[in-house]
Order: sequence, then C-alpha cells, then structure tokens
Amino acid sequence: MTATIIDGVEIANRMRAEIATQAADFKQTYGYAPGLGVVLVGDNPASRQYVRMKQRACEQAGITSVSHLLPSTATQNEVEAAVHELNDDPAVHGILVQLPMPPQIDEERVLRLVSLEKDVDGFHPLNIGLLGMKGREPIFTPATPTGCMVLLDEVGVDLDGANAVVVGRSNIVGLPVSLMLLKANATVTVCHSRTKNIADVVRGADVLIAAIGRPEYIKGDWIKPGAVVIDVGSNKVDDPTSERGYRFVGDVDYEGALNVAGAITKVPGGVGPMTITMLMVNTMKAARFLARKTAM
Ligand code: NAP
Repeated sequence: MTATIIDGVEIANRMRAEIATQAADFKQTYGYAPGLGVVLVGDNPASRQYVRMKQRACEQAGITSVSHLLPSTATQNEVEAAVHELNDDPAVHGILVQLPMPPQIDEERVLRLVSLEKDVDGFHPLNIGLLGMKGREPIFTPATPTGCMVLLDEVGVDLDGANAVVVGRSNIVGLPVSLMLLKANATVTVCHSRTKNIADVVRGADVLIAAIGRPEYIKGDWIKPGAVVIDVGSNKVDDPTSERGYRFVGDVDYEGALNVAGAITKVPGGVGPMTITMLMVNTMKAARFLARKTAM
C-alpha cells in the first residue's frame, strides 16, 4: 500500500483564496480591512522569520498588520503595554504574541492580557480551559492543532471512536490537539518523554499525530497499516547534497511510513502551511465578531 499524501500546500492555498475573498467582502461592507496585531520581542531568527511569513500571508489575503517589535531587553511592563495598545486599537481584530519570549518576560501573564475576543492564537488560558471542558466551546483554538484537525477532515477520517495517539504534550501542539481529538469523540492516548513502550502504543493508532521535535523518531514499523499520520515535526538536519547544506524532516520516518500508512503529511508541505492559514481564519472570525459588536 502506498499512502495518500495529504497536501497541506494545496489545502492551505485553497483556504487562503477563500479568506482573501472574505477579507475583500469585509472591507466592502465595513470600509476597513481586517487587522492582525503582532508582538515580537527579541531577535530570535526563527521567530522573526515566522512573524514575517505570517504577516506576508495576511497581507496577500488583504489582512493588514500592525507590529510591535521590541528589543530583547524589553521589560515586562513594555511588553504588557504593547498588548494593551493592541487590545484598544479598533483597527486590530486579532493579536499574535510570538513565543518564546526572552527569559525576563512572564509569558503566561502576557498571554492572559490578550483580549479574549482578539485571542486568535487561542492560547489564552480561558480558551484552552474551554477547549478542555465537555460541552463548552472556546472562542478560538490554536492554529497548528486546528490545522491538524482540518487535514484529518480533508482526508475524510471518521474520528468517532477512532484510536488516536498524540506523541508530544506541549502547550502549543500536543495538549490542545489531544483535547480537540477528544472533543471529536476519538479515544485519545497522549505519549511524552516518560511514556514506556512508545512503539507499541503508536502501533494501536488509527490516527497518529507526531509533535515531538525529534527527526524521524517514529519508525515505519511502528505505524498501524492504513493509519492516518499527521507529522507536525519540523526538524533541521544536515544535508550535504542540498544547496543549503540542510533540509527539514518530520518526527516520522516518512519513507518508512509511506508504504504502511493509509495517508500521511509531508514535511515540509503538510502541517506548516496550515498553521498560518488557521491564524488567518481566526483573524477573519475575530474581525467579523468585533465589527458586528461595534455596529450594534
Ligand atoms: P516541545 O514544546 O519541545 O514539546 C515536545 C514534546 O515531545 C514534549 O511533550 C516532550 O515530552 C515530547 N517528547 C520529546 N522527546 C520525546 C520522545 N523521545 N518520546 C516521546 N515524547 C517525546 O515541542 P513543540 O513546540 O510541541 O513542537 C514539536 C515539533 O513540532 C517541533 O519539531 C516543532 O518544530 C514542530 N512544530 C511545527 C509547527 C508547524 O507549524 N509546522 C508548529 C509548532 C511546532 P515531555 O513533555 O515529557 O518533555
């Protein structure tokens, strides 16, 4: 069996085209564009690159962005002031606080300050809490886990009663995606660095989400035949054969999994493009909500 490739680039491009239409309609209706506010502290090259990519994608879709770029020496008060300013700015509908922040900043306090109605990252503790509660719905859900759920939906997986295994329990990927799978009525097992016999646990997965940050850690013979595999991992590895001298691989041994899985994402080109797309979806949702509220 050769797995169906779940093409995140194609799905993300299709969704971004829809978002661009929605943003144009929004502007025509309300006379202003949807807006994303960004807080970036420090000069971590990866964070700067992520922010640039997010802003470029938003601008291409007609979503404006307002940035607060603070130096790595910024104080807690300065970072909090930037968040307050974006909370109060009527041209900003969604706020993105790029993590990680420098060690002197209490990230948790910063995330709590983001207005719930503008929490397009979905990391406000109240939104995460609502995600974890039965019968409750958060206003926003985090981008990468939501992107994973969209990919599962695109491939037509029936999650009801499916055995889903999530490897990784981070606040930004593993934990929220586990909660989302549970809400979708999957039977969820979460693995982490202390899990024993992880290969055996993975072997029981109808749906596997890998989010550990270890290159090609999950081997092909761990995968249940026909399983749907979403590889969130994005790991830079040396590659003397490539022009750049490196390439990115996932947490799953792609070649080994390809002949066993029923469907699988590629790295790059799977979850990555979906993350930015879901941030844009959330920003449109926030813009519509705030515009209707203002009009009332
Ligand atoms: P993280 O915060 O470092 O968390 C890693 C998780 O994996 C932790 O829960 C850790 O367990 C677990 N883990 C580490 N080694 C393990 C092992 N040998 N066996 C089992 N579990 C293990 O990472 P993250 O932020 O969730 O990111 C995970 C990966 O996804 C990274 O490659 C990252 O670059 C990628 N990512 C991609 C996107 C995207 O848009 N494509 C977005 C976010 C992240 P403990 O909790 O026990 O320490």
